Order: sequence, then C-alpha cells, then structure tokens
Amino acid sequence: MENDGIRWISVAGEKNIATLNLAKGNNVYGEKLIRQGGEEYRLWDPFRSKLAAALKKGLKKMPITNGTKVLYLGASTGTTVSHVSDIVGSSGIVFAVEPATRVARELIQNVASNRKNVVPIIEDARRPQAYFSVFGKIDVVYCDIAQPDQTDIAIANCAAYLKKGGVMLLVIKTRSIDVTMDPKAVVVQEAQRLERNGFAIDQILNLEPFDKDHGMIHCTYGP
Ligand code: SAM
Repeated sequence: MENDGIRWISVAGEKNIATLNLAKGNNVYGEKLIRQGGEEYRLWDPFRSKLAAALKKGLKKMPITNGTKVLYLGASTGTTVSHVSDIVGSSGIVFAVEPATRVARELIQNVASNRKNVVPIIEDARRPQAYFSVFGKIDVVYCDIAQPDQTDIAIANCAAYLKKGGVMLLVIKTRSIDVTMDPKAVVVQEAQRLERNGFAIDQILNLEPFDKDHGMIHCTYGP
C-alpha cells in the first residue's frame, strides 16, 4: 500500500517500506536515508516499528495519510512517531503522549524539535483529560502502551478525542495482558471488549515474525 508519504523501495532486490522525510537530512534511529526521484526517503524498519510491521503483514486500509490528525499513545523515543509525522506531512499533526521523562526527552530532542507537526505531551494516557494541547477531534488514535489495561485506556482516549467514524489502531502485547492465555485468545478477547464499547472491528493482524506475541487491531469508532 502506498500513499503520499509512503513508498516501497527496492534495496538489494528486497522490497523495503520508506517514508518521505519531512526533516531533510535528519535520521532518528540510525535508519538509512535514500534519494529517489529528487526526494529523500527514510527506510522504515518493521523490526523497530509495529506500524511498519502491520503494513508488511498486509494492513488493508492505512488510516494515516497526508493531513491526518493523530493521537499517538506510547510515543517512547519517537521511532514510529517520526514516520507518522512524515506521512501526515505539514498539514497534519501528531499529538505524541509519553509519560516516561527519560524517553520523552529523546522524543523532544530527536523528533519534535525538528518537526513542527509533532506535539509532545508528557502525560499518562490514563489521564486523557490532562492533555491541554489537544484541540478539536482526532481522526486516528494509535495506541502502543503495553499495559494490562491498555484496551480500556485506549477506549477512554477515543471517547474523549476520536471523531465518530474515526479509526483506532491498537497494538496488543498479549503477554502484558495475560501470560497464561493463548495469544490468539487474548486478541479475540480485546476485540470483543472494543465491540462492546462501540467499535467495529475491520482487521486483526498478527505481527510475527517482526514482533513476537503482538497483534494489531484496526477498528472504526461509532456507527
Ligand atoms: N510506539 C513506540 C514506537 O513504535 O516507537 C514504542 C512504544 S513502547 C512499546 C511502549 C511505550 O508506552 C513506552 O515508552 C512506555 O513508557 C509507554 N507507556 C506505558 N504506560 C503508558 C501510559 N499509561 N500512558 C502513555 N504511555 C505509556
């Protein structure tokens, strides 16, 4: 799947995913910069980013495109946030929530300071009412926080900010939820929790071999 910011680039005979670099000349986590057709692209490593893994594993509809307004929960140092920033471009915005100050510092220094469309929010996603910089409704909520109650946290954030008909991409780390349960059963259980809370499930992906015991749910909010 390609959109304005995403390209599949062949390197040594292998198809790699890449994004159009919004911060020319800068890389974020050691990824290669590639020039093609007068543009600069950053290779997007599916072993480092679950969104790239989902695209490699056949995500049918990529909800993040040029101009999308994204609420990103669990930004960490900004590896995936930086690619999302490339894709939404200067007409979109990424509100990046991360409570751990050590990694948030890297997010600010390496990503937000070079990209006007990334707004760091140093907060716990359990307190969505505390995000004073988020304005208006959000098109896409992306959640990757690896917490046992992550689905409930994601739902509370959608209730506060996601527009009706908006999309959530929820990363499920099955071992964070229940180590004793079959990973597939954990994903199904979380999908059912989403359905009970007004989401329609569009696609469920297993992210192996890029991420062991991780799934991703693509779902749509409201009728
Ligand atoms: N999404 C990142 C990426 O692809 O570059 C990796 C995220 S990492 C697996 C999980 C992150 O969620 C950690 O940085 C952690 O500090 C953050 N986190 C954990 N609990 C959180 C919470 N309650 N609210 C927001 N973020 C949280």
